[in-house]
Amino acid sequence: MDRGKLSRRDRLVKEKRHDTYQQPGKWPEPTVCRECGSLFQSGRWSWRKPPKQAHKILCPACQRIADNCPAGYVEIRGTYFIEHREELLNLIFSEEKLEKTEHPIERIMSISHEDDRTVVTTTGVHVARRIGKALLHACHGDLSMQYGDDENSIRVYWTR
Ligand SMILES: [Zn+2]
Repeated sequence: MDRGKLSRRDRLVKEKRHDTYQQPGKWPEPTVCRECGSLFQSGRWSWRKPPKQAHKILCPACQRIADNCPAGYVEIRGTYFIEHREELLNLIFSEEKLEKTEHPIERIMSISHEDDRTVVTTTGVHVARRIGKALLHACHGDLSMQYGDDENSIRVYWTR
């Protein structure tokens, strides 16, 4: 691991010390996301049908997507993943679906393939952690996770 990569990682953590995406009391209730239709009510986001008189905003997940500001990064390396990529991508998407069904603001933002790694970015820390644990559980390999100071961001590394 080279020094350039480490310093970039430090900077990402510092930028996200204050989670402007999920401050308590930020939204009146009920509030609905004008992009994805998720509903904020009783202090949490859900996929319940919004009442007609709901306030309209961008939910934290859609806001992060609009800002291109992920909360989670899952970095996947190794020949095993390359050899089983389709199968493991299906696993990743099914884990996302399970998490998102319960928690609308936990989603995959993007998946990019580079020469020696695949990077999954997410709108929440929980779905990133879930994907890492699912890969470990299904395929073993090596998993490590690194939270930002505030626990509003996470970097997950899985290799096999
Ligand atoms: Zn939304």
